[in-house]
Amino acid sequence: MDIDEEIIKLAEVIILKNALDYNGKARLDSVISKILGSKPEIKTQIKNIIPKVKEILEHINSLPIHEQRDLLIVKCPQGLEPKKVIEKNESQLPPLIKAELGKVITRFPPEPNGYPHIGHAKAAVIDQEYAKMYSGKFILRFDDTNPLNEKIEYYDAIMEGISWLNIIPDLIKNTSDDIYLLHDYGKKLINKNRAYVCTCNQTTIHDLRSKGIPCQCRKDSEYNLENSDKIFNGYYHQNEAIIRFKGNMNSNNTVMRDPTLFRIIGSSHPKRGEKITLWPTYDFAAPIEDSIDGVTHALRTKEYELRNELYRLILNILDMRVPEVIEFSRLEFEGLPVSKRKLKPLVEDKKVEGWSDPRLPTLMGLKRRGITPEAIRRFVLSLGITLSETKPSIEILESFNRKIIDSKSKRLSFVNVPFKITIKNAEPKEVIFKNHPSLEMGYRKINVKNIVYISNQDAEKLKVGMEIRLIELYNIKISWIDKDKKEGIAEYTDDILKENIQKIQWVSEQDSIKYKILKPNKLFIGDKFNSNSLEILEGFAESFVTTLSADTMIQFIRLGFCRIEDNKSAIFTHK
Ligand code: ATP
Ligand code: MG
Repeated sequence: MDIDEEIIKLAEVIILKNALDYNGKARLDSVISKILGSKPEIKTQIKNIIPKVKEILEHINSLPIHEQRDLLIVKCPQGLEPKKVIEKNESQLPPLIKAELGKVITRFPPEPNGYPHIGHAKAAVIDQEYAKMYSGKFILRFDDTNPLNEKIEYYDAIMEGISWLNIIPDLIKNTSDDIYLLHDYGKKLINKNRAYVCTCNQTTIHDLRSKGIPCQCRKDSEYNLENSDKIFNGYYHQNEAIIRFKGNMNSNNTVMRDPTLFRIIGSSHPKRGEKITLWPTYDFAAPIEDSIDGVTHALRTKEYELRNELYRLILNILDMRVPEVIEFSRLEFEGLPVSKRKLKPLVEDKKVEGWSDPRLPTLMGLKRRGITPEAIRRFVLSLGITLSETKPSIEILESFNRKIIDSKSKRLSFVNVPFKITIKNAEPKEVIFKNHPSLEMGYRKINVKNIVYISNQDAEKLKVGMEIRLIELYNIKISWIDKDKKEGIAEYTDDILKENIQKIQWVSEQDSIKYKILKPNKLFIGDKFNSNSLEILEGFAESFVTTLSADTMIQFIRLGFCRIEDNKSAIFTHK
């Protein structure tokens, strides 16, 4: 039996969507039930259809995720649209375990060692959203215990990013505020014989850890508390000694093999100066801080999973309250890494313009590109807190953004690589354009004398003798054309709307200005930086654009949405 083409098309789209929802692997049972859900009438034939569906499914499952996504765009362009925009206060986050209304406390703990990016936005939005959901509290805590990497500039950038996201923390603090308290807890662990000063060199430590063998310092520690006083009193210098947790050197979880709790860092702390040199690691500071801050639910990204055992044990030994620890996946985009580790070299090697380069997924970069904080929030919440590591496409963020800016953006004309057309026998004309085709956004007037510019791309198709319509203006017939000089001459024919002639966009010479659009493209191709990642479009825009202030979102017809940067340029946001 021949299976209906329509059913096959439907099956392909359902399989692709299912695969993209579940880490690239669609499941036959859920695909079949979805097919039946949309076409109940084929129930009697389903047995005949299954083998074919299975064949398509196996093929699709064998493709890399980016190919699945490309296929879905081809087969069903609207298939990548977010399922449903989250209504105000209606979050898609699942309930928190052991959460009580009014008592939930969450925190976002960035290290001020770089500029905030969309991954941080994910963590911050989810934390804040949970606090809101349970009428609880949200803390912004700078986890600043490595003065080597931290700078005031980064604290400020994070504060700015958080406030741009419209997140207002109930409390803002620094882990470094509690440094002496953290020292006290360190001393307590030593006194309980659950931590010790280790003076082995780094190679020995590394070597013994990998072999699972305790070092002499650990063995001696019970009799030798002297070193503890020394390390707290500043006797040792950087790399001469550390404090280690007395864990289990045989543990299969290598994190438990006597991890570092404190190390000596010589550089001056941006908030505390140079007096303090003994700084806790994240492994020690995070559980203590979460516990004393009253955090009930500590959300962190999945890579910390193996550290949870240590987190809980430290608090148990110190008889401190243990928060619930919840993991979620790190956000990464296809072709656009977010981590500081990958972005910093691009900034340092000047491959991009700085941290606010519109190609970057930093909050400053996204803002400059014209992505709204509301779109980021909706996007992040639409991802939920799954552990699955699928890399969403940036197009999903863009489609949330489009929904927000579409109704606020005036539509204007820009011609890329202008081609000049002089119209003989044309009467000067004033055309009135609506600023938005369907919404009430006012009008603008455009004066046309006898010269217009069209884009070179449109001009490529022109031939002498051809009649075209200049959109909303009139019809002209090409009488002479020089494609090298990018010039042509035409004659006015009439104003009648004709079905079968090309309709071409234009700007009037009289009412236009030289204009530049920066268009960010994929930052990476595979693992390599894309040296063509910033395209520059140069042409003419309607001079009306200069009446709009910087940061205004507009839509250049046929090109896409842009954010106005200044009087002469804009940044391309997305289609
Ligand atoms: P980076 O790799 O960019 O330096 P990080 O994890 O070192 O990231 P921190 O400042 O230490 O950055 O992280 C602050 C919080 O933000 C942590 O809770 C971390 O789990 C979360 N976070 C960082 N990057 C991401 C991401 N890509 N997706 C989700 N959460 C993230
Ligand atoms: Mg970090």
